[in-house]
Amino acid sequence: MARITLRQLLDHAAERGYAVPAFNINNMEQGLAIMDAASACDAPVIIQASRGARSYANDIMLSRMMDALVEIYPDIPLCIHQDHGNNEATCLTAIRHGFTSVMMDGSLMADGKTPASYDYNVEITATVAEMAHAVGASVEGELGVLGSLESGHGEAEDGHGAAGALTQEQMLTDPDQAVDFVLQTRVDALAIACGTSHGAYKFSRKPDGDILAMHVIEAIHERLPNTHLVMHGSSSVPQELQDIINANGGEMPQTFGVPVEEIVRGIRHGVRKVNIDTDCRMAMAGQFRKVATASPAEFDPRKFLKPAMDAMRDLCRARFEAFGTAGNAGRIKVIPMDEMAKRHAGGLLDPQMSAARAA
Ligand SMILES: [Zn+2]
Repeated sequence: MARITLRQLLDHAAERGYAVPAFNINNMEQGLAIMDAASACDAPVIIQASRGARSYANDIMLSRMMDALVEIYPDIPLCIHQDHGNNEATCLTAIRHGFTSVMMDGSLMADGKTPASYDYNVEITATVAEMAHAVGASVEGELGVLGSLESGHGEAEDGHGAAGALTQEQMLTDPDQAVDFVLQTRVDALAIACGTSHGAYKFSRKPDGDILAMHVIEAIHERLPNTHLVMHGSSSVPQELQDIINANGGEMPQTFGVPVEEIVRGIRHGVRKVNIDTDCRMAMAGQFRKVATASPAEFDPRKFLKPAMDAMRDLCRARFEAFGTAGNAGRIKVIPMDEMAKRHAGGLLDPQMSAARAA
């Protein structure tokens, strides 16, 4: 029984000064690759599924797979998280299928592409937080709209992402507004906008302070020292993965992601959850291409999938080690969701309480 809530996991991470990568999955091979990596270095895990993943794999398939992963890896605390929930129904059905945590992304309207007003965001996020906390599940909110400070546009991934031009103001979370948002919504974790965007094409050059605004994270952490911060779009898009793809018939234009050292800097300033999808996709796709190029007669899917799993496993392990996640699974005693629900109901996990305790 090792399903853990996001709140408990990130509280532990904050106490010990590490962060947890949140890897997106769509299928069995990705689930096994992540858990294999975690088990090899004793890291607790966040596996997240987008709405796109849920419709690709089917909710029943996904939830039984999570049961299986918990059974196969009983010593690894596993948080199962809804990535970019667009409304109450998405979040509640996720919890019904065994997710221990949901993201209610009210920075965009339910269509997943129109930037929403601040009041809309507060209202829907607070509503979801109240319902989720009642059953012990955790909630991540988002303030600010994910978009590229270079291009001034969002990037859609799995059907989710701002459409049209965005202002600098929208793309950088306001630290004062963040305080108000957390107090009003009672979210357990807050996704912030600091210049990262979804997908592989984040930056056209190695990012500096103009296009990756890490100072925003530092300012928010200063005002909200007890709120767990989340970095979205935080794949590093390693050059060697681009090279494998392009050496084997791929045509990925040169691109740059978020350097691991910048993420590590964020971890020193309250970042506790780091979303990574593109790197895993690239690690797998590179191996598919390599096998297809080296062995054109090959047609056994496992001959493609096995090296792809191994490449994803190695990537996940490197992130567990870089973020300080490794070595912490065995230190966590999982609190059941019913107990988390009682703590939420008793106000023990309110942001105000945490702030008061810290003072
Ligand atoms: Zn995201």
